Amino acid sequence: MATPQDLKIAILGAGMGGLTTALALAEKGFKYIDVYETASDLGFVGAGIQLAPNMARVLDRLGVWQGIEAEAVNIEETSVRVGATNGELAHVDLKYIEKTYGYKHMVGHRASLAGNLYQGCLRHPDAIKFHFSTTVSKVQTFSPRPTFTVTPRDASQPAHDVTADVLFGADGIKSITRAAMLDELAADADPTTAATAAVAVKDTQQAAYRIMIHQDQVKHDAELRALLASNQVIRWIGHKRHIIAYPVSQHTLYNLSTTQPDSNFAAATNATYTTRGSKAAMREVFADFCPLVQRLLSYVPEGDVCEWKLRVHEPLPTWVLGSVALLGDACHPTLPHLAQGAAQAVEDGAVIAVVLARLPNTEPASVHRALKAYEQVRKTRAYALVEMAAASGRALHLGDGAAKAERDKQFAALRQGQGPVPDKWADAEVQREIYGFDCIQEAEERFDEYFA
Ligand SMILES: Cc1cc2nc3c(=O)[nH]c(=O)nc-3n(C[C@H](O)[C@H](O)[C@H](O)COP(=O)(O)OP(=O)(O)OC[C@H]3O[C@@H](n4cnc5c(N)ncnc54)[C@H](O)[C@@H]3O)c2cc1C
Repeated sequence: MATPQDLKIAILGAGMGGLTTALALAEKGFKYIDVYETASDLGFVGAGIQLAPNMARVLDRLGVWQGIEAEAVNIEETSVRVGATNGELAHVDLKYIEKTYGYKHMVGHRASLAGNLYQGCLRHPDAIKFHFSTTVSKVQTFSPRPTFTVTPRDASQPAHDVTADVLFGADGIKSITRAAMLDELAADADPTTAATAAVAVKDTQQAAYRIMIHQDQVKHDAELRALLASNQVIRWIGHKRHIIAYPVSQHTLYNLSTTQPDSNFAAATNATYTTRGSKAAMREVFADFCPLVQRLLSYVPEGDVCEWKLRVHEPLPTWVLGSVALLGDACHPTLPHLAQGAAQAVEDGAVIAVVLARLPNTEPASVHRALKAYEQVRKTRAYALVEMAAASGRALHLGDGAAKAERDKQFAALRQGQGPVPDKWADAEVQREIYGFDCIQEAEERFDEYFA
């Protein structure tokens, strides 16, 4: 008799979500996992990433945390500052995190996270097959077995259709799986689901520069060397803008990620979400920030400025149709202000493996119910964090007025050791909600209830 591990699984996209899903399934004994990735390799985004304890917990259970931890930097404190003056609004000690949640709050290089996940997958060469330079151009059917069209970049190889037992759309913010799912739902005669046609990508009118400064560039600047050697995240905030910065890669690189109003993409005619930015334009955006920030930005190598358009999506009515499910940015893209986008994609992958491994049989109807159980464990939490990230950004970006005065009162109270942190990722209550949640345990404990 076929077991769940005999199911033929297709994963569209080898980002953090797709890689985690493949690895988590292989660790549960799944034997037939195909990952289709349009890029020719994992890609190399020269950027840092926060590795929150809820992400670390999953990665540890998948056996890949050690390698990531070895290359990462432990964050012990965070400082929120006025961008214009460098005056400190709040200083939050984060050393308690390891004791409370079992993992340190670390920051690392994206290449380290993706690379270690990929290496983890390569431990299962018989189970996981990667198809790089291969684009899934169309999802044709959702049930009982999903069928999709695969187009290899190599023109000598013809496009062909593939049928799997389960298809996961881990294809990011521009997900074609999500688009196909929404089209299918909109074509449904049921007027309650036809409303999904209105659910669309939302332009946040915000963009981000992602920058890395190498230790060699600041070797003559004692103040910046100290930042690089520190175990601190700093956020400089201003009206509609901020910069978050921390050392990564064993303190050899200083990572900066900014948020600012999107003017460059808005003015451009092309539809890509990433572009080489101009250093002069970047410096202009933060021209009124303090001399320390000015100096940091001056070290950014010319030609190394990458700007991202920040987009989110209206909440989806469902993440699952037939035997197809969405995960990661395909279904819950978020503003980066809580540093939880990839962490939530990693949680998705872990939960998917739990629910599929618990299947009592391999019937498409059971697969569908298991995927709905995944959605039940994940959807409310993921959307709550998307909303919280947006709210945190709004608070950080306030201009002069009553709301900012109220926020700054909170910062003042915090300096006296009381009250919440307006920069939500550093708030202990928020951390309890995010880091204290064990998604694998939740999926195991609630599976029977949700599957019923
Ligand atoms: C400025 C910024 C800072 C951030 N900081 C953090 C942070 O500190 N911590 C954190 O947890 N998160 C952070 N995030 C969020 C995080 O980067 C994303 O949420 C995460 O990478 C999403 O992973 P994913 O696998 O869902 O999607 P992606 O990483 O977008 O992966 C999707 C993959 O699918 C492939 N693909 C797409 N379409 C097709 C197709 N048709 N066929 C085949 N392949 C396809 C793509 O090439 C890509 O490799 C940040 C994001 C930004 C923009």
